[in-house]
Amino acid sequence: MSFFTSANKPFLIAGPCSAETREQVWQTAEGLSGMPLQLFRAGVWKPRTRPGSFEGKGEEALLWLQEVKKYFGFAITIEVAEAEHVALALKYGMDSVWIGARTTVNPFQVQHIADALKGVSIPVLVKNPVNPDVDLWQGGIERIMAAGVTDIAAVHRGFSTYKTQRSYRNQPNWIIPIELRRRFANLPIFCDPSHITGKASLVAQVAQKAMNIGFDGLMIETHVHPNEAWTDAAQQLRPSELKELLAQLIIRKEFAPEDNLELEYLRQTADNIDSEIIDLLSRRMEISAQMGDIKRQNNITAYQPDRWREILDTRCEQGYKLSLDKQYIAALWQIVHDESIKKQLELPEQKPEESA
Ligand code: PEP
Ligand code: MN
Repeated sequence: MSFFTSANKPFLIAGPCSAETREQVWQTAEGLSGMPLQLFRAGVWKPRTRPGSFEGKGEEALLWLQEVKKYFGFAITIEVAEAEHVALALKYGMDSVWIGARTTVNPFQVQHIADALKGVSIPVLVKNPVNPDVDLWQGGIERIMAAGVTDIAAVHRGFSTYKTQRSYRNQPNWIIPIELRRRFANLPIFCDPSHITGKASLVAQVAQKAMNIGFDGLMIETHVHPNEAWTDAAQQLRPSELKELLAQLIIRKEFAPEDNLELEYLRQTADNIDSEIIDLLSRRMEISAQMGDIKRQNNITAYQPDRWREILDTRCEQGYKLSLDKQYIAALWQIVHDESIKKQLELPEQKPEESA
């Protein structure tokens, strides 16, 4: 059982973006006391986009976090971006560390941290890289795993885009954490709706969406006085607001109970339709192979651009009339057509005159 596997969903991580002062850390922890927190978070070294902003209190803040651990009983997690941060986290008895989005993008840096974690058993959270690259996220996790760390969880905090394309501060691209889950079946995945939305009023809706998808936990920035926060002021919740969010949050069951007959009926119907689709795809492929033969015999290319255009247009148009998204149909038929061309090219070579 991993440190990050919680019997009660969601695994909850809360606390300020940054540890600013002893009072701010203490009062935030006080506000959170009694809530079902598994980890209290605070940034001690802050990766800032531009120089000259508040870059964290460093080692001094670790003493404040030690106090929070001692008096409120919270386990503590902090961000590490250097091997030296790992050494200090261990020296001050931090319970967990996280690797931030600006660090996960850099394999050299992740490797330095992984090397510092060798032989140490501390739970590690790996945030996604700032760019939407699931392989890079996977690679970061693999480096930490290879260092021998057994308790690992991924944190989805959204992906950067240029300002004009933003609805949230960082785009969620939900398909990416879902793909990561496919790649690591047993890896807990948490959502950080604070950094996705960048806005306190939107945090609850994204937290709910994460629960609907099946995320295991939440990391939510919480500050005793959000408006006065030195970093990420717009997105932090007051402890009372976090409490309200948790009270409203609907937790979905990951495994649908088999005694839900209505769902079972719909699933069987979907199974039957899928089976018909596979039969049709197989027939479609037989026809493609026959067309491939004829193309060979008549010495014409397997790929015919005009024909592909016509296929795409007619299928998208038909789908659209039946309320199917054109992009969805286009993507599907691209796969069908690519596979068909691939099969035609695999046919044994024949000279046109031989088969005449
Ligand atoms: C943070 O959690 O405060 C932080 C800096 O996050 P990220 O790495 O996701 O930007
Ligand atoms: Mn932050």
